[in-house]
Amino acid sequence: MPWPRFYCLLLCAIAFPLAGESGRPVALADLATAVGAQLWMDPWRGVALLQTPNRTLSVDLQTGVALADGEQELQLQPFKSSSTGPQLSQEDYTRLKDWFSLTAPGKPLVPPAPLEVIPRSDPHRRVQVIVLDAGHGGSDPGSLGRHEFGGQSVVLREKDLTLAVVLEAEQLLRAKYPDRNIILTRNSDTYPTLEERVKLAHAQNLGPHDSILFLSVHFNASLNPKASGLEFWYVPHDYDREVIATKDVPESVFPVLNLMVDQEFKKESMELAKNLATSLAQELGDSQIQRGLKENPWFVVRMARMPAVLAELGFITNPDDAYRLQNPAYLKQLARGLYIGLSSFIQKYEDLP
Ligand SMILES: [Zn+2]
Repeated sequence: MPWPRFYCLLLCAIAFPLAGESGRPVALADLATAVGAQLWMDPWRGVALLQTPNRTLSVDLQTGVALADGEQELQLQPFKSSSTGPQLSQEDYTRLKDWFSLTAPGKPLVPPAPLEVIPRSDPHRRVQVIVLDAGHGGSDPGSLGRHEFGGQSVVLREKDLTLAVVLEAEQLLRAKYPDRNIILTRNSDTYPTLEERVKLAHAQNLGPHDSILFLSVHFNASLNPKASGLEFWYVPHDYDREVIATKDVPESVFPVLNLMVDQEFKKESMELAKNLATSLAQELGDSQIQRGLKENPWFVVRMARMPAVLAELGFITNPDDAYRLQNPAYLKQLARGLYIGLSSFIQKYEDLP
């Protein structure tokens, strides 16, 4: 599987003998050259990883916090940005160059062949696949709401509402993105298991610049009939998991790379949740309570190795929410809110420098 967001710069063969000797800030790439390290950059998270046969240094370019050999924390001076990439201070350059030159027990550097070598700036970064998951279905109705509206008894089933919203969102996304893959985990009243839903997402073929998003749609229920409103869930920031396959990267960098990719997915999940919450608030106006963004390792968001959000679009057990939810026009409005949120996330993601 390619790693589209990592730039692998193989700099060892290029020599910049004067780098760092002038007192001016020095490009991080020049440090990599000077110590014979390979450099991976992740522009979305603003982190970099330098590796030699003996040493590994990961750097958060925003805070200047660096982790040496996965254990020792160093505070560097703020990085400056330049046309040659992030620059570090002369003092930090000297300090890190010395640190890299110290002998440390290490494992031989495995050539990072499975990592995709792509240009430093990736104008082709693209969300190529969107997986829409209508929660529940078939033998699993999800939550149920029984209400009396105008003397009529109404029973709402979560599985019907999620499917209606997802089918509508699918139409809107297909019209806007005819050349992207809009995938549904179900398009009728069937029940794919949770594992099957996630497996379907992982089975999608991605090119070196492609990304995939996962959105699971649900409706809430509560014993308290007053509970009402929308929630957007994503995996907790401190929930550890493996998001890359050990076979895809050198063993020596696996823990650091896995952490970087996982943090990136979590950050993107939160960004996606924010975009969805904002667009739905705009679409629905004051008619719905916004209960906000929340963290929980629900199966589908925990297992999806990609940015993933679970949206709870109202309480089926609340009479006001349920009254709106029985109206097909309102379900279309919810779908439109999801569509706008997804679109705005995609636009921001693809416009990143
Ligand atoms: Zn549900």
